[in-house]
Amino acid sequence: MSSTALPKILIVDDMPANLTALKALLENLEAVIIQAGSGNEALSLTLEHEFAVVLMDVQMPEMDGFETAELMRMNQTTRHVPIIFVTAISKEQQHIFKGYEAGAVDYIFKPLDPHIIRNKVLIFIELFNHKQTIEQKRLELKEANQTILEQQKALVEEERLKVMLQLAGAAAHELSQPLMVLLANLEMLELEKEDHSRVMALLPKVQNAGESIAKTVKKIQNVRYDVTISHDAKTRIIDLNQDIHILLVDASDGAYKIIKAYCSKYDHLNLDRVATVKNALPALQKKAFDIILLEYDLPDGTGIELLEKLNNEKINIPVVAITGKGDEEIASRFIQAGAIDYLPKTKINSKRLFEAISTAIEKFKLKKEMNQSIKKMAEKSITDQLTGLYNRNYMDGVLTREIDRAKRYENSLCCLIMDLDHFKNINDTYGHLCGDFILQKFSALLLSLKRKSDYIFRYGGEEFICLIPQTDLKGALQFAERIRSQCQEKEFVYQKNTIHITVSIGVSSFDDMEKKRQGAALIDNADKALYEAKTEGRNCVKVFAR
Ligand code: GH3
Ligand code: MG
Ligand code: MG
Repeated sequence: MSSTALPKILIVDDMPANLTALKALLENLEAVIIQAGSGNEALSLTLEHEFAVVLMDVQMPEMDGFETAELMRMNQTTRHVPIIFVTAISKEQQHIFKGYEAGAVDYIFKPLDPHIIRNKVLIFIELFNHKQTIEQKRLELKEANQTILEQQKALVEEERLKVMLQLAGAAAHELSQPLMVLLANLEMLELEKEDHSRVMALLPKVQNAGESIAKTVKKIQNVRYDVTISHDAKTRIIDLNQDIHILLVDASDGAYKIIKAYCSKYDHLNLDRVATVKNALPALQKKAFDIILLEYDLPDGTGIELLEKLNNEKINIPVVAITGKGDEEIASRFIQAGAIDYLPKTKINSKRLFEAISTAIEKFKLKKEMNQSIKKMAEKSITDQLTGLYNRNYMDGVLTREIDRAKRYENSLCCLIMDLDHFKNINDTYGHLCGDFILQKFSALLLSLKRKSDYIFRYGGEEFICLIPQTDLKGALQFAERIRSQCQEKEFVYQKNTIHITVSIGVSSFDDMEKKRQGAALIDNADKALYEAKTEGRNCVKVFAR
């Protein structure tokens, strides 16, 4: 239901005259009144509409008000609709009790007091409107959430697609040569099929080409998508001959031998070994490993301690825990510390080891892609698309933070609002694209002039804000003047047109603010100063004065 639809009120009475009277009492309320002449009619209407409240006569032939209310309570869709019983019968407690038992929320007596009845109904209209607003907000939030999820998914998909295309290119590249050889030899076979000795000489070539193709296919099946090599000056393709470098951290020579034997069954698995926590970090710094196989019991600590060290040092590498102890607790501690998988040594064989390694690398890569896309999303949400500056949304948070900081440490904080002069003329003369171009170049100018600790935001179309922490008014004015003069001097060259623009700047300072000293006031003051700069002829800097 849309939030603008009027709330509906159902009035139920078997006497048409009573319905008319009740309707007259409810006149001019912001609601639609719907009437029912019986309990049955009321029931079917409550299933059809969502009512803010039902005003129901108690005494009705066939089905009275209490029975109708009881039936409404039994139905999932109507059980929470508020009911006010309207009755002319005695005010005995018994009746009132019966009404409440049936789920009534209120009870009013005839003759009806217009004031009381309108007030009661008004409360329910308000409640209903609140409920609608909340529902609307919930739907909006859900939709926004969905959009974010979809965008995230799209980014991951985009990355995946890139990788797939690379893979296809690499596969075609790698397969093309043996395939050509195969086809050429098949052609030769066809030509020389009568000559048995020539056929015999050609067969090994066909076989070699076939094997080469089979080998490439196997490589493609085991490929890790993230390792690329240069193909030509512009393109990188996936390296199909990539090796997987494994670091085993285990003090047991026996275990090393077994795992080495398993790895040797696969051409591209390379195994190195260190025996201690202490030697693991230098080994990782010396060589780029793709994965760590990590034992729990080590002579100078535990595998989990090493994992924690890796996390602290921000060494990002997939880890598969392996240990002689088939212990669930250790397994779960490993996973909690960031290991991707856990393999009890008793269950390792060459196939399982290879699968665990491939899956761990793939999982790790997906996790990395996911994190990258989340980071990209976060950056997108605070960045203005056209200029690459921070957007207005982000400004609100920064402003609150900087105001708090200025209050806490009694620092200065200044604010500049800049508005390009007669910018509409630029669009009208050179076109909107040229206007966009100038906005981008002006933003770049601001970025080149600002200090590291300053923040620049695109506040609106051709309006920018700069927050300058730990700078007094004098410093802020110098900065503003530098922006103004450099902007005036800059030549914006767009499609052979050399364009000059000017900027008006309003400056405010946190020190000059009223008691409350809130972010909105800092902006407001700068805006007032900007207005003054505009009215005094533009291309100038004005300071807010109380
Ligand atoms: P002044 O500020 O000096 O009073 O004049 P102005 O012409 O700059 O003022 P106004 O605020 O009326 O107009 C701002 C214009 O900036 C309107 C719009 O054409 C242009 N503008 C706003 N955002 C963009 C944008 O993203 N791209 C382009 N090309 N133009 C924009
Ligand atoms: Mg403007
Ligand atoms: Mg302007």
